[in-house]
Amino acid sequence: MTGYVRPRDLDEALATRAAHADWMVLSGGTDLMVNANHKPIPTGILDLWRLGELCFVKVEPASIAIGAGTTWTEVQGHPVIADRLSPLALAAREIGALQIQARGTLGGNVGNSSPVGDSLPALLALGAELELASVRGRRRIPYSDFCTGYRKTALAADELIVAAHIPVPAAGTKLAWRKVGTRRAQSISKVMGAAVITLDGDRVVSARIGLGAVADRPIRAAAVEAAVAGQKLSEAGDAARAAMRSSIKPIDDIRSTATYRREVAENLVARFFAV
Ligand SMILES: Cc1cc2nc3c(=O)[nH]c(=O)nc-3n(C[C@H](O)[C@H](O)[C@H](O)COP(=O)(O)OP(=O)(O)OC[C@H]3O[C@@H](n4cnc5c(N)ncnc54)[C@H](O)[C@@H]3O)c2cc1C
Repeated sequence: MTGYVRPRDLDEALATRAAHADWMVLSGGTDLMVNANHKPIPTGILDLWRLGELCFVKVEPASIAIGAGTTWTEVQGHPVIADRLSPLALAAREIGALQIQARGTLGGNVGNSSPVGDSLPALLALGAELELASVRGRRRIPYSDFCTGYRKTALAADELIVAAHIPVPAAGTKLAWRKVGTRRAQSISKVMGAAVITLDGDRVVSARIGLGAVADRPIRAAAVEAAVAGQKLSEAGDAARAAMRSSIKPIDDIRSTATYRREVAENLVARFFAV
């Protein structure tokens, strides 16, 4: 390794990123260090850990911005996130265990873009936008357009993730999060998902459902969303289960079988509509 930069500000980080697109971008390191012994030594490291301009939570009336460097401990401990964006706060509580949550960041989970990244279905369901920056300027992209394939993203070689901007759901919106893993803690998801359900009395107006570990990337459950729109809440669970059955192609891997994942996914979406 020939280079190491721990930037003082975002401008220095972006200039370093532009000059050294081949360097490793390091935040908490909880994903990167797991594989460090199996990968070639990087030519350099751009160390973003605790960079001030990436570590913030900004609450505005209609949206909440969370800096990419914000740790999962900070996300779950923030009272407004816990109250208004509960799927993300609950996902944060189930990422690894306390040590991982103290070090792992939102930007790292998004940047790693694993199909089992726990925050990703929550970001999808909550309708998050990502703010990306490079020396060329800043842009925003819906999270739904960011993940383009198995661990592939729309991040350009000279860009960094700056923040997630998440619209605050209207009061009365039903929010849900559920992770199914082997254990309660320190467990990689077999299936997980989040739901944001808009209700008019006991009727579902619309729903956004994000799921993880059932495809090569986190997905919106479009068939379920269509099936529950206009249904009574008490009947939406069955409609969701039936639509789920015919609409996913889960993966077989060392953590679980496709058959098990399909059944769990059906139960999981049905429970989002539990009265
Ligand atoms: C024991 C253990 C248990 C775990 N359990 C879970 C779990 O239950 N659920 C789960 O989802 N994850 C889990 N993880 C994975 C990991 O902790 C999370 O994905 C975490 O959010 C990664 O954040 P980080 O800051 O450590 O990322 P890093 O390892 O620093 O980086 C990860 C990737 O993101 C990129 N990146 C980071 N920040 C930026 C940025 N600002 N701009 C552009 N690219 C960036 C890096 O270049 C790298 O490619 C676990 C890891 C371990 C070691």
